[in-house]
Amino acid sequence: MKDSIVSQKASLQKILQGINARPSGICFVVNEAQQLCGVVTDGDFRRWLLEGYELDTLYKELPHKAFVYAFEGEKVEEVIARTDEKIRVVPIVNQDFHLVDYLQIDKRIHMPVAMPDLFSGNELKYLNDAFLSSWISSSGKYINQFEECFAGYCGSGYGVAVSNGTVAIHLALKALDIGPGDEVIVPDFTFAATINAVIHAGATPVIVDVDQDDWCIGPEAIKKSISDKTKAVIAVHIYGQPCKMHEIMSICERNNLKLIEDCAEAHGATYDGKRVGSFGVISTFSFFANKIVTTGEGGMCLTSSEKLNERLRVLRDHGMSKEKRYWHEEVGFNYRMTNMQAAIGCAQMERIERILQKRKQLEITYKDIFSEVPSISFQKDFVPLRNKTIWLITALYKNADAKIDFMDHFKRYEIDLRPVFYPLSAMPVYQKYSVQDLPVSKHISQHGLSFPTYLDIDFDKIRKAVDGLPPALR
Ligand SMILES: *Cc1c(COP(=O)(O)O)cnc(C)c1O
Repeated sequence: MKDSIVSQKASLQKILQGINARPSGICFVVNEAQQLCGVVTDGDFRRWLLEGYELDTLYKELPHKAFVYAFEGEKVEEVIARTDEKIRVVPIVNQDFHLVDYLQIDKRIHMPVAMPDLFSGNELKYLNDAFLSSWISSSGKYINQFEECFAGYCGSGYGVAVSNGTVAIHLALKALDIGPGDEVIVPDFTFAATINAVIHAGATPVIVDVDQDDWCIGPEAIKKSISDKTKAVIAVHIYGQPCKMHEIMSICERNNLKLIEDCAEAHGATYDGKRVGSFGVISTFSFFANKIVTTGEGGMCLTSSEKLNERLRVLRDHGMSKEKRYWHEEVGFNYRMTNMQAAIGCAQMERIERILQKRKQLEITYKDIFSEVPSISFQKDFVPLRNKTIWLITALYKNADAKIDFMDHFKRYEIDLRPVFYPLSAMPVYQKYSVQDLPVSKHISQHGLSFPTYLDIDFDKIRKAVDGLPPALR
């Protein structure tokens, strides 16, 4: 590193030598006390030359800019969070400001688990339009347009856009008058938002196991858990997989239970020819950045009941009467979505079929790449009855004890694999809501992992990592 440290008194010529000494194309400038006082990249050098500075100009005479540095012992993620796309090298100093090391960052080659697809459609155009119209809160043309378009796409009567997928569930429970004293059956294997919403509604969640074949809440498990306090079931279509809707719906009908579908991970999935979200008395969606359709943050409730549609709207907007302004009929919430978010959503919906198709193709490619890795078994398909969508491509890895090693192997190729959810019942805050033994969700949690799932994945990188897998991990 010594070759790329130059004195503040050095000339441009000397600095160029420093930059040239390392492949990173950067040099560090220090003062007389050897304290770091500048960072120069080959880009800075180019700009100085173009501005007319000569090679014998002294560093002190050049225009400087602020630079990003880090102290020894700081967390790498926190340092990276302070950088922008252009910064490739961050010097690391000790308390005396002496250079001790540097951190090299290359965000371009790192492969995350999920990334939104925002630039191949009209997202920016509509967002800009919403912004320029000054309708930046929750009124404006995009809200209605997004609600109608999304509800229509799912085959439901009405859409009520809300701030996120969690409050969508909460709002659904409130609109159905589910609260203290009521029990709501939820799957053990889901994102915690499902159960949190039940608890915040004041109701008692009852955690049941999922089925081995589809990883979704199981009809038998629901049946076993019904008591005279049970008011609702939340069926979560996990990782894009539709639940066994015929069975679950008939259990709900027979026992007079409200069915809420949590479709946060399953936009566009179908069951027996109908889209998920069209089965529940109310269904909920999330449009978080890693979901199949995104608005940044956002969510929606769908219902085909006119009455529930009205109720959801009143509750979403402070419980205020629709006829009489500032007259509050009940204690409501502010769960509104902004026009800007809805604008992004409208643009996403123009491309929904393409998005789903491309995601489907990702899974096909993954299955092909991993066909020689017997330890990996992907989430099952149940076509023709069920047509799952692809949220995060998720598989079970045979040897739970080696799952960390398997993930670490991919990390060395700059590929992030992600473990799946913990069972709710494994977490102390939810333990009291589970009475049964829940072996299946435990098994999935121990063996499950998700692969990078976004539209422009570099599959060569994945292939290379798979080719490099040692036989013991295959
Ligand atoms: C993402 C998710 C939610 C919550 O959605 P947010 O928009 O993040 O609040 C709820 N349920 C499931 C199953 C999810 O995956």
